Amino acid sequence: MSSTQAILSKLIAFDTTSCNSNMALMKYVQGYLSEHGVTSDLVHDPELPKANLFATIGPHTDGGIMLSGHTDTVPVTGQHWTKEPFALTADADGRLYGRGTTDMKGFLACVLAAVPDMAAADLQTPIHLAFSYDEEIGCVGVRHLIERMKTHPHKPAGCIIGEPTSMEVVTAHKGKIALEVTVKGKECHSGMAPAGVNAVNYAARLVNWLEHLAIEKERHGPFQECFSPPFTTVHTGVINGGTALNIVPNSCSLRFEIRNIADEDPQQLLRRFDNYVAQLRDEMQAKDPNCDIQTRVMSSYPGLQTPENTDLVSLIRRLAHSTDAHVKINFGTEGGLFSNVLNITTLVCGPGSMEQGHKPDEFVHASQLQQCDEFLQRLIKELSP
Ligand SMILES: [Zn+2]
Repeated sequence: MSSTQAILSKLIAFDTTSCNSNMALMKYVQGYLSEHGVTSDLVHDPELPKANLFATIGPHTDGGIMLSGHTDTVPVTGQHWTKEPFALTADADGRLYGRGTTDMKGFLACVLAAVPDMAAADLQTPIHLAFSYDEEIGCVGVRHLIERMKTHPHKPAGCIIGEPTSMEVVTAHKGKIALEVTVKGKECHSGMAPAGVNAVNYAARLVNWLEHLAIEKERHGPFQECFSPPFTTVHTGVINGGTALNIVPNSCSLRFEIRNIADEDPQQLLRRFDNYVAQLRDEMQAKDPNCDIQTRVMSSYPGLQTPENTDLVSLIRRLAHSTDAHVKINFGTEGGLFSNVLNITTLVCGPGSMEQGHKPDEFVHASQLQQCDEFLQRLIKELSP
């Protein structure tokens, strides 16, 4: 077993599903780093027993590269696993199974396995480690780290988000905003239906409006070929309402999301939605003033669009042996926040594939970890000429 695999098996054994604390894992990482002479800071959640970790190896100066990943994973609940999710299992083909192997403890293991070499190297610019929590529930935890980083005296020049891209360099992904809508109607006996205000019917009209918006985006764009699919998507995923067929329902809620390309401002789409909500609300309140429609943002993160023609992108492409400039990802990362809030040139490049992420029997191939190990060795060499 390589040292990367040994570390990965430790990381997998911590059940850091987003609903759990990640402190035991962070304690292990801090202990490991200090064994190699690297001090690290925890940036705690103000309310929960969770933390981000930040460490600097090499000189405390401007520039250098930040290696970034999240420590939380999606749940295994309701999934049919044939392997143990919280223990690393290898098969004869080199697949390493376990929750988080590809998304994204595999990358964290590669980074940690390279720490002794980073510490021993004569780094001219620093390598920073930024490990976050609660990424899977809307990039929540990293915001505390980013707040802290605003006051750091030195800023990294570049950031590599090690989400699984099969070690290809990816410079763009969509942004996302997720909303919950609660419709409050007025109940009555269904035999008297016209006297009530049917919350399910009003929610259905909103769902219908959102579907028309989705079709408009698909047909008329705007389009950007660097995204997959190359237009903004709109999707309703959850709807709940009504209690019995003979009652006009007084309540219905729905959840929808917009995943926007860089050329589209999701707020502009939401303003159109809000106008329609206001129109329906007026209609409902004309029947009963207590009726209402409320909208709440559940989570959001900005998209990422780093120009291809930057020195950092060319450098990382060369070091990662990433030859395909057309690889696209259809998931979000913390990269948009690092890029938008801290103005750090950010790209995504990590071992494994999201084909296996979030699924039962998630795995990463050992050859992917090895590719990432070799990439990090080349990066260390590059920064310590
Ligand atoms: Zn991830």
